[in-house]
Amino acid sequence: MTLDISITPSANPKTEAQVAEILENPGFGTHFTDHMFTVEWTPEKGWHDARITAYGPLTLDPATAVLHYAQESFEGMKAYRHEDGSVWTFRPFENAERMKRSSHRLALPVLEPEDFVQAVEALVEIDQRWVPEAGSEKSLYLRPFMFASEAFLGVRPAKHVTFMVIASPAGSYFTGGIKPLTLWLTTEYTRAGRGGMGAAKTGGNYASSLVAQQEAIAQGCDQVVFLDAQEGRYVEELGGMNMYFVYGDGRIVTPETGTILEGITRSAIIELAGKMGHQVEERKFSIDEWRDGVASGEITEVFACGTAAVVTPVGTLKWDGGEVGSATETGPLTTEIRQSLVDIQYGRRPDEFGWMHKVI
Ligand SMILES: *Cc1c(COP(=O)(O)O)cnc(C)c1O
Repeated sequence: MTLDISITPSANPKTEAQVAEILENPGFGTHFTDHMFTVEWTPEKGWHDARITAYGPLTLDPATAVLHYAQESFEGMKAYRHEDGSVWTFRPFENAERMKRSSHRLALPVLEPEDFVQAVEALVEIDQRWVPEAGSEKSLYLRPFMFASEAFLGVRPAKHVTFMVIASPAGSYFTGGIKPLTLWLTTEYTRAGRGGMGAAKTGGNYASSLVAQQEAIAQGCDQVVFLDAQEGRYVEELGGMNMYFVYGDGRIVTPETGTILEGITRSAIIELAGKMGHQVEERKFSIDEWRDGVASGEITEVFACGTAAVVTPVGTLKWDGGEVGSATETGPLTTEIRQSLVDIQYGRRPDEFGWMHKVI
């Protein structure tokens, strides 16, 4: 604990009845807790003025650098309530280390992992009544983010940077049961090239994915899948989820890192599936392997993963001129991996990997 956090409680917190009503049906990303965390950085003072205050709008100069040049990075994680009332995060130091890597790529200052975790957990603590009850797949979604807050239109790394954490209760990703996704293969757009920002969790990657996602929706699909920028041959990932391919012989393949985002769910599955006795391959995986493997029946399950949905089955892949796969049910390994992860997160299964971090 190295940040000296001043706390000014909200003068207008939501009533218990209002919180209860929101937690009944939180949706995703529309309701926010009573407080927010802020800390600022300058080259002279380093990180300073750490504070928790009432949640509310920011006042930004129109010249604030992030609005023009997108120098920012963010994280996504959750707090889970267990049956005994305790509250936990999942591998928070992994998020902290990833933000450090993103910061490096975006020329942002480094926030030390202990400080990152301290900030996130201080907010969870003060807003703990916003962590939904155990026994559902609800959680408190946590959004740490860092941005260039200097008012300056010159192009260089900002000399004033702000790191914040906000929290938003999240309902189960799947309302009405888990349904396999239909994916659209874009051949026009890519998400990241060699030397680009593909491995950084930064808003720019999302901005560049939106038009491809729109194309997917227009094609009647749920999400877009990107191929590598150099050859247009290897599967990268979805707009915000990593991919897995399961073979009938028990092998599992996931695209190698480099230009994809290094998902914490992705890496947890590598460990978990290994422990379950599966051979997990991290390698280049071509779109032809996908199409041919599903068509021949060699590939028996395809799924995507990320913090929000944990694990989502993939039913069909469509592209301009064809489609493959027609799964309407979630495959057995997809189900088992999903259930194991969720059970660890909600404390219903022993945490043999040491992934959970107790907050309260
Ligand atoms: C955050 C993210 C993921 C998933 O990462 P998790 O740590 O598992 O939540 C995958 N792809 C992209 C592009 C992301 O931004």
